[in-house]
Amino acid sequence: METQVGIVGAGPAGLVLSHLLALQGIDNVVLEQKTRDRVESRVRAGVLEQGSADLLIDTGVGGRMVAEGAVHEGVNLQFDGERHRIDFTALADGRTITVYGQQEVVKDLIAARLAAGGTILFEAEDVAPHDVIGPAPSLTFRHCGSERELACSVVAGCDGFHGVCRDAIPRRARREFGREYPFGWLGILAAVAPSTDELIYAFSERGFALHSLRSPEISRLYLQVDPADHVSNWPDERIWDELRLRLASPGWTLHEGPVLEKAITGMRSFVCEPMQYGNLFLAGDAAHIVPPTGAKGMNLAIADVTVLARALAAHFNDGDRAGLERYSERCLGRVWRVQDFSNTMTELLHVLPGDDPFSSRVQRAKQRYVESSVAMRRTIAENYVGLPLD
Ligand SMILES: Cc1cc2nc3c(=O)[nH]c(=O)nc-3n(C[C@H](O)[C@H](O)[C@H](O)COP(=O)(O)OP(=O)(O)OC[C@H]3O[C@@H](n4cnc5c(N)ncnc54)[C@H](O)[C@@H]3O)c2cc1C
Repeated sequence: METQVGIVGAGPAGLVLSHLLALQGIDNVVLEQKTRDRVESRVRAGVLEQGSADLLIDTGVGGRMVAEGAVHEGVNLQFDGERHRIDFTALADGRTITVYGQQEVVKDLIAARLAAGGTILFEAEDVAPHDVIGPAPSLTFRHCGSERELACSVVAGCDGFHGVCRDAIPRRARREFGREYPFGWLGILAAVAPSTDELIYAFSERGFALHSLRSPEISRLYLQVDPADHVSNWPDERIWDELRLRLASPGWTLHEGPVLEKAITGMRSFVCEPMQYGNLFLAGDAAHIVPPTGAKGMNLAIADVTVLARALAAHFNDGDRAGLERYSERCLGRVWRVQDFSNTMTELLHVLPGDDPFSSRVQRAKQRYVESSVAMRRTIAENYVGLPLD
């Protein structure tokens, strides 16, 4: 097999890249290790920045998102029961977010690629990049019992944090920065109408809680837990009790319903520099991870591949490699800005384990500053809706 761009991974990064390249007439093949069903049913992120939503609409894959997603003009931060609305209309020049599940974005993109005659090989096993430093890289893999090879000019590593592409950059040629947080999130999907019109991020002495939404019938809620904890310790009743206590606010009631899914995810920050090596380009979680408190993971993946698609179009269509050479530098500016925002939100809203009274007092001072300062709320608003790409 031969193509111009071999894409590893059919998450948001790989699929958006495949879609954008196809629109520019650039041939590409996506290799994905999981089944289509598995990829389309993974419940993860659900907040699209204005720029991400605009991109999906402008490139013809936003129809269902517009019909079924919900545009939000604000978000709530709550400290010890007192709720403070961050008003995007007033503070972020009218930019908004769209609440639409990541798995729905993935479904829409897969449908669009297949309808356009694109190639996505699901259940591609043992994918391995070769010769990425030179002009003729390739990807070997096993598919339907046969050993296969995909020759390409460029490899896009969109294979998430646990993928294989990052390791194709030799250790001496890359530097990794990371931080593990001493807490994780227990996330549930519940068959109950959301108890709020806009997301609620709540700090309480018992720990962080988040009330998010997926649809008029489905709510998504999270609790700060020990990352080593197990869902078997969290029967539904205990989850709802804890959510009720942490999200409590005068005059507000939490609606409960059947829990459809629950999982505990650890939280980490991670960046790999550079995000490119020869003709290998990393995008999305393959290159960086943010704690989910800023709702940025999927958006950062979409921003990376937007930059990459433009650079690849200039390279393949105009013979101009300058954008590709600057890819990593362009992306890392945004990546570190988002790392800062995600870290700030995480430290503002979680109970920091360990008895460190100084840090607790500083955290309380920051929370009070959100309450009192329009400048602080504006900073949160403009980062939350997403900074412009250029
Ligand atoms: C469990 C979980 C929950 C999350 N929850 C939230 C949330 O609530 N809010 C939020 O903002 N963000 C959340 N995130 C982050 C967000 O979902 C990610 O940032 C986003 O998925 C990044 O997209 P991506 O395409 O870069 O990577 P991924 O979505 O991870 O996609 C990578 C793809 O590559 C495939 N792959 C991996 N290895 C190989 C290989 N060797 N060969 C072929 N294919 C391979 C994978 O199967 C996958 O389909 C969550 C992430 C996880 C893991």
